[in-house]
Amino acid sequence: MKALVYNGPRDVSVSEVPDARIERPNDVLVKITSTNICGSDLHMYEGRTDFDKGRIFGHENLGEVIEVGGGVDKIEVGDMVSVPFNVSCGHCRNCEHGLTNYCLAANEPDMAGGAYGFADMGGWAGGQAEYLRIPWGDFQCLRLPDDAKEKQNDYTMLSDILPTGWHAVEMSGLVPGETIVIYGGGPVGLMAALSASVKGAAKVMVVDRHPDRLKLAEQIGAIPIDDSKGSPVDQIMEQTGGRGADRGAECVGYQAHDPQGNEDNALTLNNLVASVKFTGGIGTVGVFVPQDPGAPDELAQQGKARFDFGSFWFKGQQMGCGQAPVKRYNRHLRNLIAENKIAPSWIVSHNLTLDQAPEAYQHFDARDDGWTKVVLNPA
Ligand SMILES: [Zn+2]
Ligand SMILES: [Zn+2]
Repeated sequence: MKALVYNGPRDVSVSEVPDARIERPNDVLVKITSTNICGSDLHMYEGRTDFDKGRIFGHENLGEVIEVGGGVDKIEVGDMVSVPFNVSCGHCRNCEHGLTNYCLAANEPDMAGGAYGFADMGGWAGGQAEYLRIPWGDFQCLRLPDDAKEKQNDYTMLSDILPTGWHAVEMSGLVPGETIVIYGGGPVGLMAALSASVKGAAKVMVVDRHPDRLKLAEQIGAIPIDDSKGSPVDQIMEQTGGRGADRGAECVGYQAHDPQGNEDNALTLNNLVASVKFTGGIGTVGVFVPQDPGAPDELAQQGKARFDFGSFWFKGQQMGCGQAPVKRYNRHLRNLIAENKIAPSWIVSHNLTLDQAPEAYQHFDARDDGWTKVVLNPA
């Protein structure tokens, strides 16, 4: 089969690899019809992780079931399914408590959490390919309704960014009528903005510096905050009568940098502490890593940050962090799409073939204007 293979920093190619196949009785084999390029793929694409050469990217997968193992009861050939980016077994101690983001059976024995096509997440093949093997298929696959094909650009957001954006808002503790500031207007930040609106936020503010992203935020009623035009903290204070936002979300991650390009992994975290009110809550879903050998300074290379803990403590704030447990939210979010309550496809800028993926990575990595979200359609 054809798959997008990582050859080294900023070097990917579409290559012929052995076919994905059923390996265990509870596996499901999916023909991938949509698989998205994610901001977190870029950390690996840029060589800022220990992702092995020769591996396949792709953790935002949707497709048609073409084969099931002998132990699969529920999922059937022909089903259109969304596959959570978390690989999870369903019966370990963490999965039993709904913590499928920290499954104990999907990674090395002393590591929790698995993901398709991701560094340090269990070595599972990614879905930017023609076919993908889904282990624990009955537990993992979310069946989609009859309009799966027409609304594929909406449902394709269920595998990661929509639940991840929702999770950021959930962890921030937002209740209806509150204000929230979202740092990062990339795909996850925009999904957090959409989620906050659905959850009844009185005011949603999105901080970014790319006009195309800020425009998308504005399209769903969020207030765009351009941090290249002045301190984002000052702008949030102005928007909130000097009190700060009730809630905040971090949707940028460890490669945060100022408008001039100076990287500082604590930049958005410290801006959040400063922009959120005393006793406010923050949800951090941007990726941070325990080691970052490619970082510009020594502290960051060890995965550490100059986090303004003094102000965070003094203000009595709370923070939740980590990858999202997709299965906690994806069924309900699917229903919101099915009933036309939300249409997350408004951020999609490109539908491309698998062969066009290397070019798409270049554009998305360069943050080229208009490349807001790329959906690859291998089938
Ligand atoms: Zn993703
Ligand atoms: Zn598990």
